[in-house]
Amino acid sequence: MSTLAQFSMTIGGKSVASPTQFDVLDPATAQAVATAPMCTVDQLDEAMQSASAALPVWSADLDTRRAVLEEVATVLENAAEHLAAVLTAEQGKPLKQAKYEFTSSADWFRYYAKLAQETELLNDDATARVDGVRKPLGVVAAITPWNFPILLANWKLAPALAAGNTVVLKPSPFTPTATLALGELLRGILPAGVLNVISGDHDLGAAMTAHPAVRKISFTGSVATGHKVAASAAGDLKRTTLELGGNDPAIVLDDVEPDAIADKLFWGALMNCGQACSAIKRLYVPQNRVGAFFDALADRARSARVGVGTERSSQLGPINNAPQHERVVGLVADAVAHGARALSGSAPDSGYFHPVTVLQGVSEGVRIVDEEQFGPVIPVIGYTDAEDAMQRANSTSFGLSGSVWSADPERAAGLAQRLECGTAWVNSHLALAPHIPFGGAKHSGIGVENGPLGLNEFTRLQVIWRPGSA
Ligand code: NAD
Repeated sequence: MSTLAQFSMTIGGKSVASPTQFDVLDPATAQAVATAPMCTVDQLDEAMQSASAALPVWSADLDTRRAVLEEVATVLENAAEHLAAVLTAEQGKPLKQAKYEFTSSADWFRYYAKLAQETELLNDDATARVDGVRKPLGVVAAITPWNFPILLANWKLAPALAAGNTVVLKPSPFTPTATLALGELLRGILPAGVLNVISGDHDLGAAMTAHPAVRKISFTGSVATGHKVAASAAGDLKRTTLELGGNDPAIVLDDVEPDAIADKLFWGALMNCGQACSAIKRLYVPQNRVGAFFDALADRARSARVGVGTERSSQLGPINNAPQHERVVGLVADAVAHGARALSGSAPDSGYFHPVTVLQGVSEGVRIVDEEQFGPVIPVIGYTDAEDAMQRANSTSFGLSGSVWSADPERAAGLAQRLECGTAWVNSHLALAPHIPFGGAKHSGIGVENGPLGLNEFTRLQVIWRPGSA
């Protein structure tokens, strides 16, 4: 009998096991800590059928949905402490940050529980009265990555359910257990079939996107997988929202001292151990200040506390999984081979830990600058003038977010508007809120999450014409 923690899928409101399981590793040790069910083709069909069957009742009553979503928010807050341990065990992040995924999710549920969903009056005169009515799309396939498994799942669930859709949710095979636990937690609150949570490998994601019951795919993950999801969705014209990878630039103008902003830059890059789609991944500073910024960030890299997520003092955990760890190690080695100077802090010598590393002497044409690194590394890149910085910041197919830093916020805002990305911040990076839309430009995505626009992504518009008042 296995001593590993076990989790079940939620299909039709019931606990469902599978004939086969797969191991889930703790990235701090690279040892198995839990098992998750490997969803079969028949079980995927059952999940889709139960989501379809739950649609008519769930979509019919907005007031009930609002009340249920409020209840979900409360339950998430109450369970945050307990479930944070499950998330930390598979994801690696410090407990406090794992807990935040649950408490912040509650904010998203409360926001969408209250958000107005009114019919829009499009015309009202003697000729015609025309109303725009928002209708749910149907069954939503929600597919999530391993960096923020709970928060990103709930960015999808809250608006999808508020709009009257039902959902089949699949987490990453690297981090399935907290999401399965979320399904278990909500079994008694959401009516049977409204939320189905299944687990499996990448092929299960592909099978979901190809499934005929699905009318909407809400996907967060890499650009490479986004291409596959879009191609699969095209087969029967499913709607998609694609939240994909980023390679965010931060441009520091010539009027800011390194020590004034080094903490903010550091955490803008290192949040979640650099495993955030919209973390700073390229830092552009004036050429004559590269050394000063490198030193300021290197100081912080030396004192950053990288450790196991269950240790109270840990600020950063490990990289989540072996392939990603190998990738980051390879990108740093490649940068050094291209002449970069590297300064690394310390990290435990176990699992998939990687020290915080600051690089100097890299530029476009080196992989760590051109690709999405998704790890605890900050390349400090020199520029000649603001035009040079802007051109190089935009010279990428990524377009998720970016930031401009200056003592003069108006000057920075003028440049921020020229960044080719979905979100551009001034003197901050990574600010997010339930009511503010978030999405990518270029290859970083299609559509948005959050805010009223995020709700609309889970609806279709029906236009109703009536005779006018004449
Ligand atoms: P990934 O693309 O490898 O996997 C994401 C999810 O897709 C997983 O659940 C996976 O099992 C599933 N999947 C894999 N192949 C599939 C297929 N053919 N069809 C359908 N689903 C499939 O991404 P990852 O490595 O888990 O996550 C890291 C990536 O996610 C990074 O690129 C990061 O920038 C991106 N991300 C983007 C956002 C955003 O909001 N834009 C947020 C977080 C992460």
